[in-house]
Amino acid sequence: MSQIQKFLFDGLPVRGVAVRLTDAWQEVLQRHASNPQNTPYPAPVLHMLGQMAAGAVLMQSNIKFNGALVLQLQGNGPVKMAVAEVQSGLALRATATVIGEVASNATLPELIAGTGSGQCAITLDPQYRLPGQQPYQGVVPLHDADGQPLPDVAQALQHYMRHSEQLDTTLILAANAQVAAGLLIQRLPLHGQANLSGHNLTPDAATQEQAASSYQHISALAHSLQPQELLELDIDTILHRLFWNEKLLRFAPTASDPTPHFACTCSSERVASMLKTLGQEEADSIIAEQGQIEVGCQFCGQQYRFDAVEVAQIFTPTLKQPPVSQQAQ
Ligand SMILES: [Zn+2]
Repeated sequence: MSQIQKFLFDGLPVRGVAVRLTDAWQEVLQRHASNPQNTPYPAPVLHMLGQMAAGAVLMQSNIKFNGALVLQLQGNGPVKMAVAEVQSGLALRATATVIGEVASNATLPELIAGTGSGQCAITLDPQYRLPGQQPYQGVVPLHDADGQPLPDVAQALQHYMRHSEQLDTTLILAANAQVAAGLLIQRLPLHGQANLSGHNLTPDAATQEQAASSYQHISALAHSLQPQELLELDIDTILHRLFWNEKLLRFAPTASDPTPHFACTCSSERVASMLKTLGQEEADSIIAEQGQIEVGCQFCGQQYRFDAVEVAQIFTPTLKQPPVSQQAQ
């Protein structure tokens, strides 16, 4: 079973989450392999996608956003696009589109950026969108302020968190074909303490400095974790090994806490609306050529077929749909 554990450090402005994806990650790979149109992911792509899956689960459980968190890497390298998506209930799906030759020791910049720089995008798509509401998206390039390429997924996400969320975050990620695992350590913002007259006081320089050094200390401990340990050890052992000398407070899991698991959100309706964006002319020409339109979900392998009548229906306005203005009433 996949595991997740949140924790705090008593008296320090630092919190953390550890995740170990086993069945959830293995199903991502099985779904990919079960589609006869797919070839198995080359090892560097598998490692990258697993790190993205673990990273996306850590970020979703850290922000507790009610909707989908979509982590996307793209550029003009041999991996055209890699996506990991996690719902608030920690349902996970992930896929990568490989269009070119991948060297057996390819790094993140070589996989994604190619001759360009590549980018890392995080989209927060609310579960209940208000009319006209767009999903929030933050994008950072896959290089630092000095133009140096970010070497791996963990560095890309740290870069994103610092630039988009202004939060110091340490991420350690590792993946193989069985396990995708990660550790997130984050510095909590310091709030002003209310004085007797009820006014907030900005934390003084000494308090701020101490908070920074506490975070640096915990972050350095986290960095002593080797990728092999992250893959082979359970979460309890990892936390004990790293933080045995700290006052670690674990959140006791309750029955209602979600466990990371594989699930796909695709549906016939979603594929139909995607076909709609393709345009009637294109859809009709596929029907003329092949007699039907067949679309396979890249995440779960589910095949959706639309015959000529169904395609015609997609492009015919129906009276069954409620008018949009009804929502405002
Ligand atoms: Zn699907």
